Amino acid sequence: MDLLDTLTAKGLRGEVPTREEALAVLATTDDELLDVVAAAGKVRRRWFGRRVKLNYLVNLKSGLCPEDCSYCSQRLGSKAEILKYTWLKPDQAADAARAGVAGGAKRVCLVASGRGPTDRDIDRVTDTMAAIKEADPAVEICVCLGLLSDNQAERLKAAGADAYNHNLNTSENTYGTITKTHTYADRVDTVRKAHGAGLSACSGLIAGMGESDEDLVDVVFALRELGSDSVPVNFLIPFEGTPLAKEWNLTPQRCLRILAMVRFVNPDTEVRIAGGREVHLRSMQPLGLHIANSIFLGDYLTSEGQAGQADLDMIKDAGFEVEGAGEATLPRHRADVAEAARAAHAGGSCGTAASACGSGGGCGPCGGHAHAPEAAPEAVPAQNGAEDELRGDLVKVRRRGAGTELAPNA
Ligand code: SF4
Repeated sequence: MDLLDTLTAKGLRGEVPTREEALAVLATTDDELLDVVAAAGKVRRRWFGRRVKLNYLVNLKSGLCPEDCSYCSQRLGSKAEILKYTWLKPDQAADAARAGVAGGAKRVCLVASGRGPTDRDIDRVTDTMAAIKEADPAVEICVCLGLLSDNQAERLKAAGADAYNHNLNTSENTYGTITKTHTYADRVDTVRKAHGAGLSACSGLIAGMGESDEDLVDVVFALRELGSDSVPVNFLIPFEGTPLAKEWNLTPQRCLRILAMVRFVNPDTEVRIAGGREVHLRSMQPLGLHIANSIFLGDYLTSEGQAGQADLDMIKDAGFEVEGAGEATLPRHRADVAEAARAAHAGGSCGTAASACGSGGGCGPCGGHAHAPEAAPEAVPAQNGAEDELRGDLVKVRRRGAGTELAPNA
């Protein structure tokens, strides 16, 4: 197939496809799916070998959020019966993190619900990072606290944070249909603040919210332009009690096409299969490893993943290996680009990311919409004939680990 030959050649050179080529990946048929996976796999192996980076989530503060992100079980008005608790103490968070690292995780992701942190919250997270790094100085820490105010990113960097997560989630064009309490531009601003402070930017998307192929391509190109070093690809977990509970728009095949498109647009960037991996890829998860080079180990923020040991078994059975603490995730040239971009931001220059007004970062809303619709969030009809049956039985609320008396899943 000419398309896949072209995409493979570009990916092996670290070049980005055209928007039309990215759209064409999403339009491939099921008969072509294994060829698509194989082509993306060549690009993945060129830059990341057979390594899989493991990341471990610690939900520092769960639920009770004043924001209205319609995909989120922690949102204002959510009826989802998730765990709700306020800030974990540093030793509690460090215990949870230790379990993840012992299970093979190289990066710990410290997440708290909310619009954004107060300066007191930054103090709390500073103490938590100190407790984690005291036990294991080599562990990477990524922080996700929502929208950042001035100087908060610098404080996190000085306290030992390696990265900051803030997802753009969807295209600028549709952002206002999923969130009204903040904008896409707010999210972009926070990613830039993190970059400017010298933090590695982790920013990704959520697929399955009723968006079009064009929306997916828009947000993925925006993430590329923004200079995200790590792109988490979430597949919507339709929680009962949230506005998107009935949005079952994904099939395993559709998820693989989306992952492949993200890989082709980000050939030498960390691509992570994030939330919804078990729910939507299901028995096709190992094929996802041929495209993405990073996953979460164990549970997610408010939902359960498969057992941590099952993740490790899957990696081994599929012929991959867990990335070690001493191994660099990004290829050298890509790490240099990331470092230069951070330096440019820190020096007051917008650099390449400045033109990327399209994707925000973190847990918070990425709004940017000057004219958010008044109506309640309403999904766009599913594309690509990907409607799945309602499978609420696959969504399991997290009842173990952080915020409970039960051992974490790692
Ligand atoms: S995504 Fe973050 S900001 Fe939005 S409702 Fe959920 S916890 Fe709040």
